[in-house]
Amino acid sequence: MNIILLGAPGAGKGTQATRIEEEFGLTHVSTGDIFRRHMRQETPIGKKARSYIKKGQLVPDEVTIELVRTTLDELGNNNFMLDGFPRNINQAEALGKTSNIDCVIDISVDFGVLMDRICGRRSCLECGYTTHISVCPDGTCPKCGSELVQRMDDKEETVKQRLEVYKNETAPLVEYYTRLGKLRTVNGMKSPDEVFEEIKKVLK
Ligand code: ADP
Ligand code: ZN
Repeated sequence: MNIILLGAPGAGKGTQATRIEEEFGLTHVSTGDIFRRHMRQETPIGKKARSYIKKGQLVPDEVTIELVRTTLDELGNNNFMLDGFPRNINQAEALGKTSNIDCVIDISVDFGVLMDRICGRRSCLECGYTTHISVCPDGTCPKCGSELVQRMDDKEETVKQRLEVYKNETAPLVEYYTRLGKLRTVNGMKSPDEVFEEIKKVLK
């Protein structure tokens, strides 16, 4: 089974992806995580990606599509869960040419909550756990005790730009995959546990 997680920045794709990976054995392919790894390692892709990511813009398609292509090939093109890709129609069409997608899960949230969710987001450099500043005000990871940090693109100005890009470029994918009969919508305003229950029903 191959699936796509769709949803605005802050909708909870990453949180759900971790659970889906455990429950269904799908390999989590997050383009955001892949780009962040490249940036940490200062690779040519990382250097190129950084200039776009820090402005809240999409990394150019030729870079992203190639990167995803290679990653999926390494996985034998099967049993993957895409998170953060495709992010526009052009990426979706490229993906459709080489991979079979069984289901697209759209995690739907009201736009109004996203700003707070993203600007308050903190993650652990050690174990990758992601949480919200309101539940961890002392800035230490509840899982491993390391320091929680804010992503460089989770600052207010950049978030505004990312939400704009989402509206203009990514949101049209909802209609695109509806037309292909693949879209399933879950209510991302509920608690992470409840959202996961809905996703399990869709996938089983
Ligand atoms: P979020 O879903 O919270 O916006 P991601 O970690 O998925 O965060 O993405 C962070 C940034 O990485 C994006 O704002 C964009 O610059 C870049 N990026 C990730 N996936 C893609 C993609 N499919 N195409 C182009 N750029 C991407
Ligand atoms: Zn941790």
